[in-house]
Amino acid sequence: MPSAADQPTADFSWSAEEIRRVGHEVADWIATYLTTLPASPVFHPVPTDVAERLLAEPVPERGERVDAILRRFESEIGNYPFGNGHPRFSAWVNSPPAVIGVYAQALAAAMNPSVAGGNHAAVWIEREVLQWFKSIFGFPPESMGLLVSGSSAAAITGLGVARHSAATRRGWDMRCDGAHIVDASGKPVRMLVYETAEAHSCHQKAIELLGIGSAQLRVVPSDGELSMRVEALDAMLTADIATGALPVAVIASAGTVNTGVIDPLPAIADVCAKHGVWMHVDGGYGAPAIMTAEYRAELAAIGRADSVGIDAHKWMYVPVDAGVVLVRDAKLMRDTFSLVPPYLRSDDDKHGVQGPPWLSEFGSEQTRPFRALKVWMALRYFGTSGYASLIAHDIAMARALAARVRASPDFELWEPQGLSIVCFRATPASIAGDDDATDALNQRILAAVQLGGEAFLSSTVLRGRTWLRSCIVNPGTQLDDIAAVFDTIAKTLRSFS
Ligand SMILES: *Cc1c(COP(=O)(O)O)cnc(C)c1O
Repeated sequence: MPSAADQPTADFSWSAEEIRRVGHEVADWIATYLTTLPASPVFHPVPTDVAERLLAEPVPERGERVDAILRRFESEIGNYPFGNGHPRFSAWVNSPPAVIGVYAQALAAAMNPSVAGGNHAAVWIEREVLQWFKSIFGFPPESMGLLVSGSSAAAITGLGVARHSAATRRGWDMRCDGAHIVDASGKPVRMLVYETAEAHSCHQKAIELLGIGSAQLRVVPSDGELSMRVEALDAMLTADIATGALPVAVIASAGTVNTGVIDPLPAIADVCAKHGVWMHVDGGYGAPAIMTAEYRAELAAIGRADSVGIDAHKWMYVPVDAGVVLVRDAKLMRDTFSLVPPYLRSDDDKHGVQGPPWLSEFGSEQTRPFRALKVWMALRYFGTSGYASLIAHDIAMARALAARVRASPDFELWEPQGLSIVCFRATPASIAGDDDATDALNQRILAAVQLGGEAFLSSTVLRGRTWLRSCIVNPGTQLDDIAAVFDTIAKTLRSFS
């Protein structure tokens, strides 16, 4: 017997009144969540019994009432976040959502278009957002791009075009004949991709997926600051080209995820131009800093790249996911992905049903979400000058943390401190010179801090050693948070001595 709480299982259409009632409840929850987060513990894991209960649940057979579903959300989901958004959270590169982006996501879902193509607003908004990104990052207006899930997808897309471009120059039809290029005499041609050991792992994944293979990844030495040694890149390219290998791309970081250091982009662009090699910039974390006065010049050479990936869901505070890939050569991008016979191409139908060339011709996805709306609304809301001050604030907070570390005899600061990332480690005199003990101590500190609920940061490995890592991409983080985070870490260290 169905209980009174059950409702008909196929009640698809809601009345306007019901939509409003539930919407107000959801908005209430969001308002409470976002404004009380700073007073909650930064993080606590999902209790074992809750996780086990979730995994043990059978597929719902009868529909449940919406209020019951919302209560489940509140008690078992909404109260176990990963900590991001909390002003004392600075792990990985995870930012809080701009509230307008939260609502934009609901509005986009209400329209629920497939943004494969066509003459509807979502297509034009995505194209407008792409024009804005081209303008911010110095790409020509006739270049192309797409909104994608993130810099990982941007890497697959950008490096996919790079691979197509390199193969085509060798007279090889990659799309038809696959990734095993052979030259005129039937000898295999080795494709190569260049990056430093500091480059994000998503590029290795992309290279494996593109059939190039990680053995073809050439690791360019980095200097003491962990940024690319360009004369080494130049020499490697010269030597590899002399052997008949085919360099496909050089990956340069506009802010590494480990330390925030920026590879020497103008010099890398020069070397790529000299050898005719594709330059892909990984701007997943740092690229938005181009909007600040301080980093505008240093990041300007992003505009010389052949492709770039940017994560608006990181340092532009747009809710996940909101990645952007830009590709300088629009025709090459379309030639890499388009699977529409030429007689169906829609170049001449800007004002008809088909609209401008379909976005699905420029990437691997067909049905695509209306990601652009949240980016469009956030950029309208903040403007580039608003972003400049929010990003500058995050950088100032990182420098404040670095200053505290520098002032403490028990801690060592990784220098140079890059963008809004601070790497540091406890180096108490009692274990001075013992690297293994120092690694172990910092791992213990990290685990205790992460579970303690007062602060949350992550760690990384630099030159083979464990460092604590704080990446501040939260405009809500203030000086008292920085002080509290550092004090928590220092207190944890003392508790171990
Ligand atoms: C996050 C990040 C990536 C990967 O991007 P996703 O959005 O996670 O796919 C690549 N590079 C850098 C520098 C990043 O911060």
